[in-house]
Amino acid sequence: MIADRLALVRQRIIDAAAAAARRPEDICLVAVSKTKPAEMVREAHAAGQRDFGENYVQELSAKAEALRDLEGLRWHMIGHLQRNKVRWVAPVVHSVQTVDSIRLAEELGQRAQVAGRSGLRVLVEVNVSGEPSKSGCAPDELGSVLEAVAAEPALELAGLMTMPPYTDDPAEARPFFEQLLRLRDAHGGRARLPELSMGMSHDLEHAVLAGATMVRVGTAVFGER
Ligand SMILES: *Cc1c(COP(=O)(O)O)cnc(C)c1O
Repeated sequence: MIADRLALVRQRIIDAAAAAARRPEDICLVAVSKTKPAEMVREAHAAGQRDFGENYVQELSAKAEALRDLEGLRWHMIGHLQRNKVRWVAPVVHSVQTVDSIRLAEELGQRAQVAGRSGLRVLVEVNVSGEPSKSGCAPDELGSVLEAVAAEPALELAGLMTMPPYTDDPAEARPFFEQLLRLRDAHGGRARLPELSMGMSHDLEHAVLAGATMVRVGTAVFGER
């Protein structure tokens, strides 16, 4: 059942890539397993899925522990991260996609070093809509947060992430995705920031058209939460 849903999502990515004249293998599907049991992650892994996103530190740690036997699993922290919880994620995650302040970058860099990590991948989250309820740094803070990440030897600056306001019409997310693309171009381009993490279950096609290299898909893979 999860295998079927995964196949559908992968096909959507293939079709969107074709429409954008891009290669589907340049778009990583991150299956967002938050609130879903570890057994569902195991099922997705059996269907070939390797990248998984989690929002809550405790849940991420518990699942990482329960699924330690799975080969090649990559965990991505995609939820808001508090500094006092960084030490729990630094040893286990492949990437943190929600770094949005200098202090968080410094804490993560330190904890990654203590955990003996090198090349822990970091995406800086940007609040492109300016909604006060959203996490992410403001576009005019982005330069300094990027520098703070780049200054940490244990971290690898990988790119940018955003989450636009939810709208029923997925096309309305498009300007926000395009804004992230412009911010990437303004801050060193693809060479410095290869990854753009944007697009979810309902709007991934628009994100792929705008240049996403990672889409974070929960509901379409694991069902309603
Ligand atoms: C939950 C979540 C997703 C996945 O959302 P769906 O609509 O279920 O695909 C993606 N990104 C973030 C940051 C999330 O919190």
